[in-house]
Amino acid sequence: MANIEPGGSCKKCKSTAVTCKYNFFEQGDLVIHSWEHKCLDCGHRSTTAYRSDDEDEPMPEDATICPYCSRSAE
Ligand SMILES: [Zn+2]
Ligand SMILES: [Zn+2]
Repeated sequence: MANIEPGGSCKKCKSTAVTCKYNFFEQGDLVIHSWEHKCLDCGHRSTTAYRSDDEDEPMPEDATICPYCSRSAE
């Protein structure tokens, strides 16, 4: 499951050709929510992955909200 939406403007080059991509992965007990903002003009990328097996960084209350633009993956 992946979905892509416009992600607003680039912090680096101010282009509005930014995509916001959400990915969901589940296998057994492992659940991963990943978010990526990518600028198609300058290539600047921001990524965050929430993993159910990562004890250093606990899952946020709602991992289906983008940490960059706050959109919902639903
Ligand atoms: Zn850019
Ligand atoms: Zn986003």
